[in-house]
Amino acid sequence: MSKQVYVGMSADLVHPGHLNILTKAAELGEVTVGLLTDEAIASYKRLPYMSYAERETVISAIKGVSRVVPQTTLDYTPNLQRLKPDYVVHGDDWREGVQQQTRQRVIDTLHAWGGQLVEIPYTQGVSSTRLHKAMHGGDKSQKYAGLQHNPLETYRKAEVGESIDAARKRDAITFWQKHAEQFQSRICPACGCSEANPLPHYTDRYPVAQCTRCTLVYVAVAFDADLLHEYYQHAENIQLLNRFYAERPDNNLVSQSRLDKVAALLPEGDQTIRVLEIGCGHGAFLSALQAAHPAKIFALYGIDPNAECTASARSRGITVHEGLADTEAAAPFFAPGQYDLVLCFELLEHLAQPGCLLQQIYRALAIGGRLVISTPNIEGMGCVVADYNQNHNITHGIAPPMHLQGFSRVSLGILASRIGFAIEALEGKGAFDTYSLVRLAGRNSLHPLLAQSFADIYQPQADWSRLSCDLQVLVNALNASSALTAVLRKDIKDREDSL
Ligand SMILES: [Zn+2]
Repeated sequence: MSKQVYVGMSADLVHPGHLNILTKAAELGEVTVGLLTDEAIASYKRLPYMSYAERETVISAIKGVSRVVPQTTLDYTPNLQRLKPDYVVHGDDWREGVQQQTRQRVIDTLHAWGGQLVEIPYTQGVSSTRLHKAMHGGDKSQKYAGLQHNPLETYRKAEVGESIDAARKRDAITFWQKHAEQFQSRICPACGCSEANPLPHYTDRYPVAQCTRCTLVYVAVAFDADLLHEYYQHAENIQLLNRFYAERPDNNLVSQSRLDKVAALLPEGDQTIRVLEIGCGHGAFLSALQAAHPAKIFALYGIDPNAECTASARSRGITVHEGLADTEAAAPFFAPGQYDLVLCFELLEHLAQPGCLLQQIYRALAIGGRLVISTPNIEGMGCVVADYNQNHNITHGIAPPMHLQGFSRVSLGILASRIGFAIEALEGKGAFDTYSLVRLAGRNSLHPLLAQSFADIYQPQADWSRLSCDLQVLVNALNASSALTAVLRKDIKDREDSL
């Protein structure tokens, strides 16, 4: 078997220096290029000019490159541990400066299996930074080095988001026109309180309220389960979304930061780790978790209503229930004390009774077991500056009949505590859709106050990528990203009282 060679690069402005490195790498063996994702690049310099897919197309076409894999962090370690290459090849220009520590970690990581770092003398006079300077008359990026910047367009083009959003509103109106007489009223699903302050109706129809006790924002009407089932089968926005996912080349791409967060919760020792993901889709996350920890023994379980998803999750060795979690048929998947870890990503906002599912999960966890939740953040900057009736593609908290409630740190914390969970983490940090926000600012369709502030600060020629970096920093400091993440722990045995 030929030796395995790993080369990490951004490859935005491809120049002879890149080709030199790839040629030398190919002389050593089979070359895998770890192509830095937009997010990884933006973590230490300006955003790339070309999208990931475009850069991938260019690099794949270069002679000697066998395959291209995403490198989602500046740090090589996760990919190296997965691929265990014999060599890493890099230019020798990283011994000084921002990449010095990255280099040292590469050396340390390779050491574990006797791998070797091979450094190629830097091609004098050529670098993408110099090309960038020549194109822009100065290197502004240095000033903002290290700022986190998350372009949501990495995952979904703004136009796609906007067309799905428009369809979602049309679907909501059609659903209302056909079925409104069957809707029941609904009280706070997090704390059961019936007192609430009314908020503007969604699409002028659906009543929305904020609980005066726990601050949950929720759709104040309830829908029949059969109607919802029909909605999920036929709604135009769901079909658009499915088509978008099907066409996306990186359909199985798993968020590295999410993977890292969950990995940090895996118990020590050599016992079997029992993990359930509710809404497991194709099982991409669970199998990535397993692949990243080959020394650990996992028992993986998943629940998903989609037949196509459950079939491919099963083919990955996951034990799967096809259907909804909060039904009688799923009961065998919720036997007491069954799991060490339960994962529940982007699900709570959809449920008529999120508290009931959390209670089910609580029972099914072993003592010391944990539940990891992510859900839209109703106090996120996106929701605050552009309400759910306007620019909804960045305010995804409320969208009946799909998204029925928007949690804040307070309301999610109250709900979790009432069920008995200890709160280990509850935060709104992380990737934020600054890109859409910046687009809206460029079109003057932001909240008037925010738009005015932008206009004052960034006249006459706004530098949107700088603005986006600034916003990302602010968003993390204020826990105001688009999503909440919670890590909840079961410390004591089940309580008999219920919500
Ligand atoms: Zn409440």
